[in-house]
Amino acid sequence: MEIFSQLQQAYLIVCHKELTPLYINPTAQSLLELAEPVISENDWQEYFVPLLNNPSTFLFKKRKLKASQSTVDVGDRKVLAIALEVVEDSMQCVDYFYSILDNLGAYVYCKDKNYRYTYANQQVCQLFNFTSEELIGKTDCDLFGEESGKRLKEIYDHDVIENGEIIKQEECNYLPEFQEYRYYLSIKKPQYDNNGICNGLLGISLDITEQKNLEKKIFDNEQELTTILDNAGAYIFIKDRDLRFKYVNKRTCDLFQKSENEILGKSNYELLGEKQGEEFSRTDKQVFTKAKKITCIETFELPDTTFYYWTVKIPLKNEAGEIDRFIGISTDITEQKELEYDLVALNVALNEKIDEVTLLKDELQKQAAHDVLTGLHNRRHFEQSIEVLMAQRGASDLSLLMLDVDHFKRVNDEFGHQVGDEVLKFLATVMKKACRVGDLICRYGGEEFLIALPNTNIDSGFAKAEWIRQQFNVLARKEFPQLPSLSISIGVAELECANVDFQQLFKEADKAMYQAKDQGRNCSVAAVSS
Ligand code: GH3
Ligand code: MG
Ligand code: MG
Repeated sequence: MEIFSQLQQAYLIVCHKELTPLYINPTAQSLLELAEPVISENDWQEYFVPLLNNPSTFLFKKRKLKASQSTVDVGDRKVLAIALEVVEDSMQCVDYFYSILDNLGAYVYCKDKNYRYTYANQQVCQLFNFTSEELIGKTDCDLFGEESGKRLKEIYDHDVIENGEIIKQEECNYLPEFQEYRYYLSIKKPQYDNNGICNGLLGISLDITEQKNLEKKIFDNEQELTTILDNAGAYIFIKDRDLRFKYVNKRTCDLFQKSENEILGKSNYELLGEKQGEEFSRTDKQVFTKAKKITCIETFELPDTTFYYWTVKIPLKNEAGEIDRFIGISTDITEQKELEYDLVALNVALNEKIDEVTLLKDELQKQAAHDVLTGLHNRRHFEQSIEVLMAQRGASDLSLLMLDVDHFKRVNDEFGHQVGDEVLKFLATVMKKACRVGDLICRYGGEEFLIALPNTNIDSGFAKAEWIRQQFNVLARKEFPQLPSLSISIGVAELECANVDFQQLFKEADKAMYQAKDQGRNCSVAAVSS
């Protein structure tokens, strides 16, 4: 022990067998700041026993000490000589520096000229599950496998070590343990010895796999979205508050016949001119003033065609919640519009046709109810109307006059059928003038006519018959001076009982008319009620 007592080096001598303290030399006593050359049992257990298994640095009374041990033969027995020294401040700085590197959140490493690791921080060690000592001396082929290791050496590290280049790049390495590729952003710098000769590299690599995956996901999503938008059957665009295009899908580029770069950043006016620009800007502005989705029909004019679009414009908000842009989706409805216009034109034509048909129908109805020669109602219409008159008359009177032109055959025979027609037409005007609104006049057939007189008893009817007969007689003479005197015979009958039908009434009037013929014609006869 005397040997140790003389030494400047602090020594703690421990029994090799029992691992108990045997001797503390004076340097050690002073280093450990002990009043006596004795270590308390507590301190021994807490600080020194762990050292025996793993001699390293340790804190004792706020001082950092470094222990290293060796076995020494003292006489005939073996002892453990634990050399103690204070870890200098500079050493503490180095440790501190290394601990920073260990906690940097990046992989830090050094390699020598043979591409072997000479240093690796804790993050590298943890990645490969090696201790620092185990990792030192290994190459990338040992860590990443033959293929990745070789690639790392040839593509990246070679330029640094052999050509002295500083490289900053993305690396992709396969990790056999995790069976996955990981991406790193690496900076590698050459290291030089005292003679300025490159003897290795210093590298720092940041794992950017998550960002890469995210980027890839965004890229994939963007690509999918672009494909959808470009192939959608609509024109899709985004414009900002200045109504400048921020996005256009391919279909919109095709419509404007411009590339995406020529469109982006331009306003409606710059792209499409004053008139067309105004057409689009009008509704663009509304999205911002109304701050809600709007729908509208827009037109796009080309020299020879007008296109119609059904457009939806939806406001979009920025992170601050302000509307700073909108997305527009336009669908071409030109074809539908043209169909609509065709339909309108068809409708107009149809309405015209309906008017024409209605007129024709009216005319036909008129013709169906009227006699073509005289314009009076015909027999069919008369028979329908008299039924209504008879049903409506209630207790009031109704008289029927049956008129027949006397010797009309002679007129035809002697003066021609046409003259005969004129006589019939003339008689019609005489009858019309003599009758009231509501009286029903008809050409019953040939030269025979019927007049129904509502609210008229047989006396009044007879008087009306006489008036017509005389008027015709007198006026025809003036109208047809070339003809012999024209006259008519009239039979008058009155509808007396509610149950007498038209046929009965007709028979009576007809009978009375024949009586007038029998009495020498040109007279009226009132039927005698039976
Ligand atoms: P009567 O005094 O007995 O009635 O003698 P009438 O000649 O008038 O009688 P008749 O029945 O013999 O002749 C009627 C004629 O009326 C015969 C026919 O040619 C003529 N007639 C019938 N319809 C028309 C017509 O639309 N136009 C012309 N012009 N003549 C007609
Ligand atoms: Mg007749
Ligand atoms: Mg006649």
